[in-house]
Amino acid sequence: MLEKIVDGIYKIEGESNVYFLSKENIIIDCGSPSDYLLILTSISSIIDPKEIKTVIFTHLHYDHIANWKIFTNAKFYASKKEIESLGNNRFGTILLTEVADNFNLKLNDISSLDLPDYLTIIETPGHTIGSICLYDSKRKVLFSGDTLFDTDFEFIGRMDLPNSLPKEMPLSLEKLKKLDFDFLCSGHDY
Ligand SMILES: [Zn+2]
Repeated sequence: MLEKIVDGIYKIEGESNVYFLSKENIIIDCGSPSDYLLILTSISSIIDPKEIKTVIFTHLHYDHIANWKIFTNAKFYASKKEIESLGNNRFGTILLTEVADNFNLKLNDISSLDLPDYLTIIETPGHTIGSICLYDSKRKVLFSGDTLFDTDFEFIGRMDLPNSLPKEMPLSLEKLKKLDFDFLCSGHDY
């Protein structure tokens, strides 16, 4: 259930993937509604979810945010653009009414998060207005959300959704191509 990618980085594979950086105590994305028990039991096998301090959302589609209630003591972060998108178009940003109706979470701008110098946030609009990726230069891992799904750059995120920004996608992919990574940790395994 909990797969180790490299030292200190774990993956829970569900409808969408959740990642845990154990040394930094960071969760990346919270998974799909149907994966609540999977995520709860998987995370609980190595850490009390109450001890998680930081959750980063790559974007705010329902299948990446649904299980935020597992992390009762965390602060939650998304990009400023994604937070603004939520304010402007709640359903178009989350895409599922039952999640949108219950998502009463205080979101913080990712730029206010103090990360170790080997972890970088990369703004990658395209799949959504405010999608972000996270790059770990120490372990050469790229967390790509729904922007990129394979290392050949053939499978990329959908751009036909209400808060997509297709014209920005090529530039976002160029940013990712410049990164030196050995492991791609994407939002879904297709
Ligand atoms: Zn998505």
